[in-house]
Amino acid sequence: MGEHYDVIIVGAGLSGVGAAHHLRTRCPDRIFTILESRAVMGGTWDLFRYPGVRSDSDMHTLGYAFRPWEGAKAIASGPSIREYIEKTAREGGIDRHIRYGHRVTGASWSTPEARWTIEAATAEGAATLTCGFLYMCSGYYDYERGHSPGFAGSETFAGRIVHPQFWPDDLDYAGKRVVVIGSGATAVTVAPEMTKYAAKVTMVQRSPTYVVSRPAEDKIANWLRGKLPAKLAYGATRWKNVLMGMFFYRMTRKRPAKVKAKLLDLVRDHLGPDYDIATHFTPRYNPWDQRLCLVPDADLFDAIKTGRLEVVTDTIDRFTETGIRLSSGRELAADLIVTATGLEVKLLGGVTPVVDGEPVDIAKALQYKGMMFSDVPNLAFVFGYTNASWTLKADLVAMYVCRLLNVMKKRGVRQATPRIGTRPVTPEPFVAFSSGYIQRAADRLPKQGNRKPWRLNQNYALDIMALKFGSVDESMEFSNAAAGRGRAAA
Ligand SMILES: Cc1cc2nc3c(=O)[nH]c(=O)nc-3n(C[C@H](O)[C@H](O)[C@H](O)COP(=O)(O)OP(=O)(O)OC[C@H]3O[C@@H](n4cnc5c(N)ncnc54)[C@H](O)[C@@H]3O)c2cc1C
Repeated sequence: MGEHYDVIIVGAGLSGVGAAHHLRTRCPDRIFTILESRAVMGGTWDLFRYPGVRSDSDMHTLGYAFRPWEGAKAIASGPSIREYIEKTAREGGIDRHIRYGHRVTGASWSTPEARWTIEAATAEGAATLTCGFLYMCSGYYDYERGHSPGFAGSETFAGRIVHPQFWPDDLDYAGKRVVVIGSGATAVTVAPEMTKYAAKVTMVQRSPTYVVSRPAEDKIANWLRGKLPAKLAYGATRWKNVLMGMFFYRMTRKRPAKVKAKLLDLVRDHLGPDYDIATHFTPRYNPWDQRLCLVPDADLFDAIKTGRLEVVTDTIDRFTETGIRLSSGRELAADLIVTATGLEVKLLGGVTPVVDGEPVDIAKALQYKGMMFSDVPNLAFVFGYTNASWTLKADLVAMYVCRLLNVMKKRGVRQATPRIGTRPVTPEPFVAFSSGYIQRAADRLPKQGNRKPWRLNQNYALDIMALKFGSVDESMEFSNAAAGRGRAAA
């Protein structure tokens, strides 16, 4: 049998590096390692290389609670976020704990041994490690495969077809006619950026998304940074943005029609009264039924105003040798087609946990406090908010995991298992979101319940109460195999 660790973290992205920091500071006696399938850390912020790649939420909430974001731009570039993760790992000595080229392929829990056996694929062959607690920070999508709906005639297109997840280093699009397919965060990022060099960019969308412009630089944040110590200024800006985000989200739930009208007015302010906002920027759903698209300093609208970026709302009939034919009959000539058609959701890095010989169907499990699963011992996962920055949740999950580990140590128990118990709970979909990537994965996602602690809070304030202060005994069975099972609190 291979090496044993108290905790194995899977993934060295934003969440995994943050998790390691929390473990080192809150559970300094725990021995851990990070298994990372790629050759570098950073996850999303290293993988995605398309032109203009950036955050679409502010770095004061996408940054870690424990490490101020010191960049002038609140909406930050992909490489600057990667550097932030790398710096965090380097300065905290976390980088020494990362084992690259270890793709976790299996995880089996044994109750008698109170440990996970982890199988990983490496260049040298299969590796086996064991751990007391498995902490999945493997993100939420497939790294090997992006989503592509499969367009008829794509093999006939004479130019190049590129998915933003796999942007080629050698791609020169200067002076070229580009068609970007999509209307999500990636499409609205890449289209205006490519417009700077391409002859013409056409963004083809089946249906529109809400697009909101925000200044790339947060003036208040930068002013506070000049006046207060870095940590204090960061904390103040973080809370300002959290509260503003929560207020805005609440308004979209309470008064969707009013918020919708306001958002469309803002687009009209940018594009003028003659632009066809009804067709191109008026979604069929209410704000925040899907993720809103944020554009920094109105770059998308400015690019449209130059006349070199056109938004077309139509469906694609087929690819042709020279471009794309739309259902309306219109032909779009293209030298390059960018399929910004989304991600393939993949939970737990594609691993099916096995508990005492039984494979766990995660789609049938109930999530517990947004970070564990019913009847799966000693396993936590990170899945960030859909309506706020990912890291707000990742930090809270890390704090909870550390609390749980410390309680287990103090009580001398080796196993912690969320149990539903006898009180009825009704399963519901994991995320109430109509976005394509969530809908496509609905049958693979776990369920949430209709009551605490099985209900997923898409709300940072409620999660602070649940994860930072809430009892770790709530619906949690603590046990030791030798001593027999403990009792779950109601
Ligand atoms: C283009 C893009 C922009 C985004 N912008 C924002 C934003 O502005 N705000 C926001 O809140 N969210 C955003 N997100 C969501 C984003 O993924 C999270 O914010 C955050 O980066 C997730 O960090 P993570 O560490 O949890 O996952 P990831 O960044 O996906 O990292 C996961 C890591 O786990 C590794 N891994 C996966 N499976 C295995 C395995 N089986 N074995 C070993 N290692 C494995 C991967 O190689 C990777 O390094 C964006 C996502 C994308 C794709």
